[in-house]
Amino acid sequence: MSHWSKLARWAKGVMLRRGPMMMTCAEFETFVLDYLSGDLPSRQRRIFELHLRVCRECREYLEAYRRSNALGKAVFQTPSYPLPEDVPEDLVQAILAARDAD
Ligand SMILES: [Zn+2]
Repeated sequence: MSHWSKLARWAKGVMLRRGPMMMTCAEFETFVLDYLSGDLPSRQRRIFELHLRVCRECREYLEAYRRSNALGKAVFQTPSYPLPEDVPEDLVQAILAARDAD
């Protein structure tokens, strides 16, 4: 583990324990949708972005969420949209099932 990732891990621990301005990873997940749709109040948005800065797991989570969201939209708007090859099978099935439900 590099020096920087150790430091980041330590900073995250400290902030999660003592920061009145911090949210946990579980809270982060519940706010992802609001954050992406721009519905998060500015105060919460700041806290959210602060967490994003110190937490690599949540950065990856947000990234994955964004990707699958963008993919879902493309599939919904274009019935013949070709699905990328590297998308997990269960995600493809979930998107197709949601699309066919309408
Ligand atoms: Zn986190």
